[in-house]
Amino acid sequence: MSYNGKLFPQPAAGYTQSFWRTQPDPLDTHQTSPDLPSEADILIIGGGYVGASAAYRLLAENPQEPAPRVVLVEARELCSGATGRNGGHLRPDIYAATARFTERYGVEAAAEIVRFEISHMKVIEDLVRKEKIDCDLTFTRSYDMYFDEEELKKAKVFYEYLVDQGFDFMEDVKYMSRQETQETAHVRDAKGGFSFSAGHLWPYKLIAHLIRVAISHGLNLQTNTLVSEIGESRTAEGFWPVTTSRGVIHARKIILATNAFTGALVPEYSKAIIPCKGICTQIAAAPGAPHQELPGTYAIRYHPGAFIYQISRNDGSLIVGGASHLFKKDREQWYNNPDDSKLFTVAADHFDGYMQRTFLGWDDSKAEVKHVWTGVMGYSADSLPHVGNVPGKPGQFIAAGFNGHGMPVAFLSGKAVADMAQTSVAFEDTGLPRLFKTSEARLEPVFDDILG
Ligand SMILES: Cc1cc2nc3c(=O)[nH]c(=O)nc-3n(C[C@H](O)[C@H](O)[C@H](O)COP(=O)(O)OP(=O)(O)OC[C@H]3O[C@@H](n4cnc5c(N)ncnc54)[C@H](O)[C@@H]3O)c2cc1C
Repeated sequence: MSYNGKLFPQPAAGYTQSFWRTQPDPLDTHQTSPDLPSEADILIIGGGYVGASAAYRLLAENPQEPAPRVVLVEARELCSGATGRNGGHLRPDIYAATARFTERYGVEAAAEIVRFEISHMKVIEDLVRKEKIDCDLTFTRSYDMYFDEEELKKAKVFYEYLVDQGFDFMEDVKYMSRQETQETAHVRDAKGGFSFSAGHLWPYKLIAHLIRVAISHGLNLQTNTLVSEIGESRTAEGFWPVTTSRGVIHARKIILATNAFTGALVPEYSKAIIPCKGICTQIAAAPGAPHQELPGTYAIRYHPGAFIYQISRNDGSLIVGGASHLFKKDREQWYNNPDDSKLFTVAADHFDGYMQRTFLGWDDSKAEVKHVWTGVMGYSADSLPHVGNVPGKPGQFIAAGFNGHGMPVAFLSGKAVADMAQTSVAFEDTGLPRLFKTSEARLEPVFDDILG
């Protein structure tokens, strides 16, 4: 479907099915009321990680009296965007993107982001325990493995710089020699790397559970409801008119949890957040075939820009994605492309034999790809998410542009915009890293980290 010439995230016929969505929750196509309500105090657009976090915060974690009328609209099924199609990797970025942010904004601002990302692990752990969420949450070490000598050298220089700064979070980061990468991480050809704490989980189950809790506290969920337009101005009563595929809803406040698809709905963001496609797989060894158990999660870095991420699930299978270097040359296939119905054949082929090529002890595993799917990420031009008040649109809030790295970022971002919408908390008091604040200036990006 298109509107004003922009593609909207309608499910294309036969769109790729992720492993995570093979067990649909009863809420997958839920509509709390047969008709779309005509009014909402707070309208959340988008039923992924941010939308679920915001709904949970508004109604379950920080309920107000009288309770606001909260409606969540989702274009497709619940959690059918990036959150339901990702790698499940809850892995803080400690020193990779941090180098870029340090160069641009100074090390203190960059370190705020590192701390924020690390804090997600404890926050998600506490949440899962409190709500008794069955989502396979597991904490482990993550092995960041460098195959390219020069890239490793550069990473080590920055790692040592952060250690010299005395940041407490660096105590958890361990440098690994080539021998250690083979003996501990069982990687065949890495030149060296680092390890640090990380986690993984079943994202769809987390989101469905949070939404179920929010519904029990009054959330009205409307799946299969595409928003096509937000009116230019508010009515005399202070409501934004929002046109959907199932009628118009008037909303006092709006939370845009639309990630990759934000620019299609709010054109002001169309240069700042670009929908970019990625690929992910589930791989498993043949039943009974010998293979080395892997101790943690991985980032396999072949050379700058060539990257694979990987988690070992508790059922013995692996979720492995990335390999964008194989399709990046063909820009139309991935850049500004919101169509998650088509695969990248060249990248999909890369995962056949990937385990055997990459890890020691997998030669006779007969490991093969069980599921392969694509998903759409919201890449931001400056590599930072946009969170806060939409410039010039009072009552509209955004948390989007997570750069394929939302798992340790999006939950607290959703909570922050919920607080901004519900209790008028200022961005500066949300605890978010200062660099995440959306602004008019950032809508005309000076960096192009996506193509540049
Ligand atoms: C293949 C892939 C692998 C990834 N792997 C990882 C990983 O391992 N670790 C990690 O940290 N991050 C990963 N990510 C990124 C991570 O999944 C995202 O950053 C995160 O899920 C973003 O959550 P969200 O709620 O902002 O977006 P989404 O989950 O995309 O939710 C946005 C929702 O808004 C809906 N929507 C959009 N426009 C409209 C509209 N007009 N009307 C109604 N609804 C609308 C969409 O249908 C969608 O469901 C990956 C992403 C992909 C695609």
